[in-house]
Amino acid sequence: MKLRERLIAAIAEGGPMSVADYMTACLHDPGGGYYATRPSLGADGDFITAPHVSQMFGELLGLWAADVWDRLGCPPRVRLVELGPGDGTMMTDVLRAAEAAPGFAAAGEVWLVEASAPLRASQETALAGTQVRWAKSLAAVPTDAPLIVLANEFLDCLPIDQAVFTAEGWMERRVGVDAGGRLGFSFLRRAAGEVAGGFCVPRDGGGVPPLGAMLEWSDDLVAFGQTVGDLIARAGGGALFIDYGRDAPGYGDTLQALRGHRKEGPLAHPGEADLTAHVDFPAFLAAARQSGALAAPIRSQGDFLRALGVETRAAALASARPDRAEVIGRQLARLIALDQMGALFKAACVHSPGLIPPGFAAAQ
Ligand code: SAH
Repeated sequence: MKLRERLIAAIAEGGPMSVADYMTACLHDPGGGYYATRPSLGADGDFITAPHVSQMFGELLGLWAADVWDRLGCPPRVRLVELGPGDGTMMTDVLRAAEAAPGFAAAGEVWLVEASAPLRASQETALAGTQVRWAKSLAAVPTDAPLIVLANEFLDCLPIDQAVFTAEGWMERRVGVDAGGRLGFSFLRRAAGEVAGGFCVPRDGGGVPPLGAMLEWSDDLVAFGQTVGDLIARAGGGALFIDYGRDAPGYGDTLQALRGHRKEGPLAHPGEADLTAHVDFPAFLAAARQSGALAAPIRSQGDFLRALGVETRAAALASARPDRAEVIGRQLARLIALDQMGALFKAACVHSPGLIPPGFAAAQ
C-alpha cells in the first residue's frame, strides 16, 4: 500500500495524527518516506542546498573547522562530524579545504550521521578513498576526543507541531481525513499549557496572540539541542548549524513541501516531497545551554560567510578563471544577498567554554 493510503487507514483507525508524526512518516517511513526511499538533491532533483550552489560554501566550513581545531589547541585527535550529509558534496569540499591545515587533516576522524540508506550510498561514492565512519545518531559518536560538528539543512528536517490561536483559544493543527476521504488538516482544542510543551510561547504585547497566529514548536529539536549541548560540554569542541529559520520567537506557518524545485501543500504528495519547517534557533540554543554548553549569538548566513571571507574567496576564484567570473558572482550573491539565502538562512554555534568560534561574536 502507498504511504498515503497507509496514513489514511491509520487516521481512520486512530484519529487525526500530530503534524510531527505526519512529518516523520513522510520523511523516514521505511516503505515510503522521502529520505528512506527517494531522496533527490541538486539541480536535477527536488531542491538545491548551499553546497550545490557553490564549492565555496563547503570550503569555508572546512577552514572554519580547521580554525576551531587550532583554537582548541591543536588536539592530536578530533572527530569531524557532519549531520545529514546529503549526497556528500559538502564533506568533499570541507576535506579539500582542510588540507590547507595538514595537522588538522591528520587529526580529524570523519563521522557522518545519516538516516537515509540511499543517501549513505551516495556519500560512500562521493567520499570513496577517504576513511569515513557512519553513525545513526550524534549520540552514537564517541566523546573521548573533541567534536567539531557541521550541519547544513539538517535541523529543518526535525518534526514540528503546530497550533493556531482562534476565538476559542489554541487549537492544535492535526492531519485528518476530510469528507471526500482525502488528507486534510483538522483542529483539536488545546489548553495554553499544552502547546509548545507549555513554554516558549511568544508573547505579543499584552500576551494575547493575534487571531489566526500559528505557533510552531518541536519537541525533537529541543531534545536534540539538549543532546548537542551535553555532548559538546562533555567532549569539548564546537557545533555549527546552518539552516533557514528564526533568530527570535515568532508566529507563522513554515511547514513546506518541495518537489521538483516547486513548493506544494504539505499534504499533497506524502513521502514524494521534501518536507521541512523553519528552525526555531532560540529554542534549540536554549536547550543546548541548559545542558552546559555555550551558544554564540545567531548570525545571518550572509554575515557569517562574509566574516569567514567568502568575498575574498570568490574574488580569488574569479581571477583564476576569468571566464567563470560572472557565474561565481551569481553564486556568491545567491549565498549572501539579503533577498536570496543571505538573511533567511542563519548560522548558530554551540561550543565549549573557552572556545571562541570563528565567525561569531562572543558567547551570550
Ligand atoms: N546537508 C546536505 C543535505 C540536506 S538534506 C546539504 O546541505 O546538501 C537533509 C539531510 O539530513 C539528508 O542527508 C537526510 O537524509 C538527513 N536526515 C534527515 N533527518 C535525519 C535524521 N533524523 N537523522 C539523520 N539524518 C537525517
